[in-house]
Amino acid sequence: MSQAQTNDASQARAGVRYRYGWPARLLRKLMFVDLSIKHKFLLLGVGTLFWFCALSFMGVAALTAIQYHYHQVAERLQPLQRSNTAALHELLLLEREAQLLVRADGSLNPATVQQLRHHAKNIRTVYTELGLRQTERQGTLVEGFVRSLADEHPASVEQVQQAIAMTDRIDQSINRFLLLPERQANGQNGNLAAMQQDLQTHLSNARSLVEEHGQLLDEESARVSEGIYQVIRYSVHTILMVLALASVLLVAFVYWIIRAFHQPITAVIGQIDALSTGEVDLAKKVSIRTDDEIGQLSDKFNQLVERVYGMTVYKKVIENDATLEDVYRRLGLVFEREIGIEHYTLYEVHPARNDMSVVFPPLVGDAKLHCDAAILADCTLCRAVKTGHRVSSFEFPGVCRRFEPDPGFAHVCTPMLAGGQTIGVTQMRFAIATNGAALDAGMSKKLFSANTYIEQSISVIEAKRLMATLRESAMIDPLTGLYNRRFLQEHTQQIISGVLRRKTQIGLLLCDLDYFKQVNDSYGHDVGDTLLKQTSQTLRNAVRDSDIVIRFGGEEFLVLLIDVNPGDSLAVAEKIRLAIEQMKVNINGETLRKTISVGVSEFPGDTDGFWQAIKYADVALYQAKDQGRNRVLRFAPEMWQQGEF
Ligand code: GH3
Ligand code: MG
Ligand code: MG
Repeated sequence: MSQAQTNDASQARAGVRYRYGWPARLLRKLMFVDLSIKHKFLLLGVGTLFWFCALSFMGVAALTAIQYHYHQVAERLQPLQRSNTAALHELLLLEREAQLLVRADGSLNPATVQQLRHHAKNIRTVYTELGLRQTERQGTLVEGFVRSLADEHPASVEQVQQAIAMTDRIDQSINRFLLLPERQANGQNGNLAAMQQDLQTHLSNARSLVEEHGQLLDEESARVSEGIYQVIRYSVHTILMVLALASVLLVAFVYWIIRAFHQPITAVIGQIDALSTGEVDLAKKVSIRTDDEIGQLSDKFNQLVERVYGMTVYKKVIENDATLEDVYRRLGLVFEREIGIEHYTLYEVHPARNDMSVVFPPLVGDAKLHCDAAILADCTLCRAVKTGHRVSSFEFPGVCRRFEPDPGFAHVCTPMLAGGQTIGVTQMRFAIATNGAALDAGMSKKLFSANTYIEQSISVIEAKRLMATLRESAMIDPLTGLYNRRFLQEHTQQIISGVLRRKTQIGLLLCDLDYFKQVNDSYGHDVGDTLLKQTSQTLRNAVRDSDIVIRFGGEEFLVLLIDVNPGDSLAVAEKIRLAIEQMKVNINGETLRKTISVGVSEFPGDTDGFWQAIKYADVALYQAKDQGRNRVLRFAPEMWQQGEF
């Protein structure tokens, strides 16, 4: 994994989220970007309610204003207009009656006078009422807004007062007619025509006044009606504007909310789709940086993608690692650097050999085995290997007897299972404050991550172990368990370069059992095989662990004495010869003894060609056979120069 990816992943783990400066943070707050989903929806609800209330308030205000104006027309002006019209009607009747007041013979028409009185009374009543109405104010809340006509038009009050005064004069004129018979009886004679003229003048003046007043009322009515239209116009415009503004805001907010949901969720679905097909693309990370639940979802999802990506990369890398040791080392480094597990030991278990060994970190320097060393020789003593289950001292302190007391630490040993067998164990140790402390969330997370990496590694470790076994088995002779000629061919370079670097010698002992064919012929092949196996063991015991014993041919063995002192090879060869001579092979109660002949050469002492040195040993062996067998012969240049080969 690259350094950048490692940093990304560790940042995400440390919970470091997107960082903004304070102006950006303030702006984001003002734009509600970082509100939680719950609060965003709450805001949407409150916003909608606000606009709903605003529109309702405007509607109510408009209707109230319309009602106010309508009230003015219907409740105040219309009765005034009706009364005024009635007064005008009475005046017209009076004028007609006034014309009929004097008969053709010049006498007074008394019936008409009564009519006149009747109409004049009506007019007085009307005008007195008009005068009252002009100044009256109503008591209810809405009507309280209604001002009296008198407040707005003092002229109309004057008109009505004048009209009332005029009715007084009309009354007086009419009274003069009424008093006429009485005055005539007292010898006073009135000028009837002049009286009629006087009355008609008064009536005409009164009519002008009433008509003027009617005009004023009409104008006022028109003004109020215009007010109503204006209120309706303004209300409709305002409501439409507010409605448009509210709609724009609502649409923008809803679009913004939908985007905030739709975009990241679609991106997450796309990534999940890609993940399910095995493709992981870090470039396709979900880039939502809000601080709400969606932002958190994207953040967590990106962490997941990074983990999966990291895991995929990790698996590819360990697949390409050349050796098992590299894989163990890399797993260990992931524990230390990616997961943060400092104390751990990786063990390799060999079920066939029933043992286990520490593979990483190597047991050198300060490194210490935290278990009883006996588990290395007998892996069934390890509880994790034996049970195939995780062994955790968090669950039960002192759970494993083989784990040495470790104050301040708890241990978790996880077996690596492959094909029903335990092929390894990962031992992790966690620092704890007190003995018996429980596994905390941080440790759980580390354990989980470690297990994920272990799971990914198991198949690769298993495959590499299998490969190694196969390679090894191809280089090992199945009958004797010794290396075969193929091993020598593959490792020649390695062996030679070590010796040349150290400037030492290899002693080459080519050993051949004497008259081996007879054993086969006399006792059968099985006995021959037994003899070969026992000879192999004797050869192995006769040399050092660092020396290499190879089954070179049927009953021919090549012993490579690594870093031998010049001349020592012959002594070792003699030791071998003697050991074989003393070797007893028990065959059905009978003891069989055999001898061996050995040809000795040294590399690079005799020749700087390794295979040439083997040939020299062969030449020496041939000579030993020739000289009577059961003997050791050191190669000498004369043997070669004899030109027999
Ligand atoms: P000498 O080396 O002393 O000259 O005599 P020898 O009888 O040992 O020589 P030779 O090389 O003629 O015989 C080798 C015999 O070893 C031939 C072969 O049948 C036998 N042989 C080779 N490989 C095996 C094996 O794996 N098992 C058994 N039983 N016999 C083997
Ligand atoms: Mg032989
Ligand atoms: Mg032979």
